[in-house]
Amino acid sequence: CLPVLVGGVILEHHPLQAIGFVLDNSARKELEQRKDDFISMASHELRNPLTALKLHTTLLHRQLAKQGLQGSAPALSSMETQINKVTRLVEELLDVSKIQAGRLEYVWETVDLDALLREITDTVQQTHPSHRILVRGAVQTSLMADRDRLGQVFTNLLSNAVKYSPSAEAVEMDLSTSAETVTIRVQDHGLGIPREKRDKIFDRFYRVADPRQKAIPGLGMGLYIVAEIVKHYGGTITVESEPGKGSTFQVMLPRKRT
Ligand code: ADP
Repeated sequence: CLPVLVGGVILEHHPLQAIGFVLDNSARKELEQRKDDFISMASHELRNPLTALKLHTTLLHRQLAKQGLQGSAPALSSMETQINKVTRLVEELLDVSKIQAGRLEYVWETVDLDALLREITDTVQQTHPSHRILVRGAVQTSLMADRDRLGQVFTNLLSNAVKYSPSAEAVEMDLSTSAETVTIRVQDHGLGIPREKRDKIFDRFYRVADPRQKAIPGLGMGLYIVAEIVKHYGGTITVESEPGKGSTFQVMLPRKRT
């Protein structure tokens, strides 16, 4: 800050400037809080009508099936797909709010990692049939975790790998274990991430500002949630990347609850 002349004395930091800074800071904090509250309320408010819509489409399906017309409602199926898409976004918004409030819940159980990864790769493969997803190193491995939360970690990493790669390129997932840890690597040969952006991609709502990245839909919540879950398990997540060549995300998790 510039020196200020007060009563013939040059002050490096004028007290009024300090007050201005405190006011600025508290106004900023209040705004942040209001934004967080809004996200939390909006996601709660959106969840209820979505649940009702989902229920109604299921009932409609049942009625059509009773009349032998289940295959004749492509519009209904496409409505369901869109409802599921919005529901996933709203669930992610809710998770972001819960992380902010320190209230993301976990249910601990023994998770069969091979089965979980197979389920996830099958689902991502179904939604992206033109990509080749290869899984290596499937060994019988279990670990203490919350199955759904762990599923979120791998789904987000795999979906990103597919999303930010051309469809001709394969995406590889490999799994290795030691007595204490499980390591999962997700590698793509896509757009890559510039070096100076690599720490930021784990921030809330952050998206790389490159036009090719921005052209791909997303809200910058996935990696924030992934990083939080991995941290909760006492694990680590790292990324290696080269723009234009691709990225590798590596998650290391302890096998026992820490
Ligand atoms: P989004 O919904 O935007 O994909 P994420 O939090 O999952 O949100 O990712 C944050 C940003 O990190 C993305 O917007 C993208 O710019 C970048 N990113 C994430 N994964 C990859 C990847 N595999 N390759 C290139 N960029 C990626």
